[in-house]
Amino acid sequence: MRVRYLRRTITILCGLVVLTFTVHLVGSRDPATGSSIALLRTARAAEGQEQAGAQDNTPRGRTPAAIVDGQYPASYFPNTELLGADEMRITALGTGMPNLTRAAASISYLVELGNGEKFIFDIGAGSMANLFSLRPDFSKLDKVFASHLHVDHVGDFMPLHIGSWLSGRYTTLHIYGPSGSKPELGTKAFVEAMQKGYAWDVATRTGALPDQGGHIEVHEFDYLQENKVVYQENGVTIRSWPAIHSLDGSVSYGLEWNGLKYVFGGDTFPNKWYMKFAAGADVASHECFLPPKALAAYFGWDLAQATYVSTRIHTEPQAFGKVMSTLKPRLAVGYHTVQSPENNAAIMTAVRAVYDGPLAIARDLMVINVTRKTIKVRMASVDDYVLPPDVTPAYVKAPRTDPKSPSKAILSGKWKGYTPPPMPKR
Ligand SMILES: [Zn+2]
Ligand SMILES: [Zn+2]
Repeated sequence: MRVRYLRRTITILCGLVVLTFTVHLVGSRDPATGSSIALLRTARAAEGQEQAGAQDNTPRGRTPAAIVDGQYPASYFPNTELLGADEMRITALGTGMPNLTRAAASISYLVELGNGEKFIFDIGAGSMANLFSLRPDFSKLDKVFASHLHVDHVGDFMPLHIGSWLSGRYTTLHIYGPSGSKPELGTKAFVEAMQKGYAWDVATRTGALPDQGGHIEVHEFDYLQENKVVYQENGVTIRSWPAIHSLDGSVSYGLEWNGLKYVFGGDTFPNKWYMKFAAGADVASHECFLPPKALAAYFGWDLAQATYVSTRIHTEPQAFGKVMSTLKPRLAVGYHTVQSPENNAAIMTAVRAVYDGPLAIARDLMVINVTRKTIKVRMASVDDYVLPPDVTPAYVKAPRTDPKSPSKAILSGKWKGYTPPPMPKR
């Protein structure tokens, strides 16, 4: 009796699960085409825009709320908070080393402003997974500022160009970066060589994706320029000055907007330009490498090599602390190490011996909200299996030339044993 009752209950439960799953599947299909999730996303995007006002193309189901009296939630959940009109949000997308780890991608920072403008500083290898985890409105992400051409600072150039083109960017991607001591060592040469390298990829997507989104415009500037303007629009001014790192051609940036100043140091030995031009920064970021002994232990190097890299090519924590104790920003941000417990302890001990001011040693997905009154440092909470962001109606409507197809010779090789389903009407 009991067994029969149990069996019947299990059968009913299974039926309910199948029904729910079926409803879910049917619900996720566009009734017109039976398959176009993209169209559904478009409709969702339009709804989302209404909800979020003039801000971002917010995903369906998210109604971003304003932060009142500086009372931020303990974690940052992307697309749930309205950025204040006077506010700046800085998100670390990569804070580690060229040796990629799941905890720390190579260097990249996203800066979002209350006026709707967004900027990416460096696009180090692996960092784009963190950018996508935020589900950003890619139609607004078309400006990248490279500090120098090491792979741990520009290695995700291709993933950014292609990934954002697929996910909502339908305008030209602008890359700002320094010249080199020779033309072939500058940003323009780098981008042109990269474009040749993945010409096949771009050719396959051109036509299927918005034409303009495939374009790249390079804005190369003199790496020797001292606090000169690199970008100036919509109340935002970005200047560059030289950094000392390996060869000539590395720079730092200062972004000023609405009485707030963010400095992105790039990679550098402590230098006079940073001390001069980073002055008055609300948030001053500067590399803070592992001290020699910890670096030797981490990579298994001898102490001489570790000392050379940590104290000649980069900035060791004690030097970072000295820079910040002189500069006195509202928040000092150190980065460029995998923050394992041992590494973090080595860095903090060395920094705190010389600097006792406000400090954040950055980790991937650390979020810094900045207003004139407050600076809040938190971690973002993201989904490992996050969906790509919704695209805007403008992206859907953007002009596309006809998609290309393989040659007759290749098409004649199709196996007759399979016939694809008929194409749904657009
Ligand atoms: Zn470097
Ligand atoms: Zn680096």
